[in-house]
Amino acid sequence: MDRHEVVIAGGGVIGSAAAYFLMASRDFDGTVAVIERDPSYETASTPRSCGGVRQQFSNPENVEIGLFGHHFVTHVGDYLAIDDAVSDLTWREHGYLFCATQDSMATLVENHAVQTRLGADIHLLNPGQMKARFPWLRVDDLAGGSFGQSGEGWLDPNTLLQAFRAKARALGATYIHGEVTKIHKTVGNIEAVGLADGTTIACGTLVNAAGAQAGRLAGLAGVPLPVAPRKRIIYVIDCREVLEPVVPLLIDVSGAFVRSEGTGHICGISPPPDQDPDAWDDLEIDYHWFEDIIWPALAHRIPAFETIKLTSAWAGWYDYNTVDQNGIVGPHPQIKNFILANGFSGHGLQQSPAVGRAVMELVTTGGYRTIDLTRFGYERIAEGRLLLEKNVV
Ligand SMILES: Cc1cc2nc3c(=O)[nH]c(=O)nc-3n(C[C@H](O)[C@H](O)[C@H](O)COP(=O)(O)OP(=O)(O)OC[C@H]3O[C@@H](n4cnc5c(N)ncnc54)[C@H](O)[C@@H]3O)c2cc1C
Repeated sequence: MDRHEVVIAGGGVIGSAAAYFLMASRDFDGTVAVIERDPSYETASTPRSCGGVRQQFSNPENVEIGLFGHHFVTHVGDYLAIDDAVSDLTWREHGYLFCATQDSMATLVENHAVQTRLGADIHLLNPGQMKARFPWLRVDDLAGGSFGQSGEGWLDPNTLLQAFRAKARALGATYIHGEVTKIHKTVGNIEAVGLADGTTIACGTLVNAAGAQAGRLAGLAGVPLPVAPRKRIIYVIDCREVLEPVVPLLIDVSGAFVRSEGTGHICGISPPPDQDPDAWDDLEIDYHWFEDIIWPALAHRIPAFETIKLTSAWAGWYDYNTVDQNGIVGPHPQIKNFILANGFSGHGLQQSPAVGRAVMELVTTGGYRTIDLTRFGYERIAEGRLLLEKNVV
């Protein structure tokens, strides 16, 4: 039977980031195997992501993670170059713009204090300042907004995934095409994983990086994990008018969001919880959200969007933490060699550098050395203590 010091179930951006940081660490001299059931990543969340990186979160950990995410993607050559070849992540640093009404302004002000205390370059704007900066924006019903002056933007998610994967392999990680269908454990210890083709692979540590399927994977070890796939649809639109400056990732008070993409724009919305059923197998496009909710809301906020053309759309699954919409990261309290890296609820792409590094720190030192993610641990789920993230887009 093959054995690896660390087996990572799931080779998306989280699993590949963990593999990279382990292989790159001077404190790790074991072997890493990444087991991925679909190396084409056809339905994985990562390539279907919008690639956004931000610091505008309510929890300090998420702000710090976002700061490291920005550092990582803007210094990607220092980490992921292979023979001096550096992947072009097509990083666009145009910021996030959260819009607020009188009611929601207090939350933005509260979050802004956390973000700036940690060094994020976020500015509160009044409606006049918003209009001066973004002349195409309607502001008469806004109390203000917060804008990432620098450090926030977006990149091509699949290029980041492939760069992590290629570098992890170049450093010696093994990628295995297979599906984990069994987890063999004794009390308090994972011994091996079983694959659908009958292979068994022994491990020192198992990392759950199964994305939207993380709840199902944890179930194989008898661990209840509140992570489920939630379908999110992204619509691609063309606007007749050229908007200057380009549209940052704008989050309207309705919850609808939009940003520029090439010469056009992409937009979407997270449905209200009562209209957000689990959708394990379905990636169908539902146009009702665009026609009835997103377009009217965005045309109100950006009047030039009265005349747009919907050109295409895609759907993907958020790896959604149904309890408090924050990552669940760290060893299981009773099964210490089972590390969770799950439930990022729509921000896992930008969190992959920090989470990959955190997994490496847990494996090599048993604790955190950089960003302290203790509060993201599974304990809070087991004990019913929520760590709510207010800024889920
Ligand atoms: C529409 C959309 C927009 C998004 N926008 C953003 C954004 O702007 N910014 C941001 O930070 N995040 C965003 N996200 C979220 C982000 O894409 C995810 O949080 C992130 O990609 C999760 O990475 P992952 O590696 O955990 O999951 P995945 O990329 O899904 O990878 C998990 C992998 O595990 C494999 N797997 C599952 N079960 C098994 C098994 N039993 N055995 C072997 N392999 C298995 C799967 O095949 C898959 O390849 C968005 C997501 C969507 C859907």
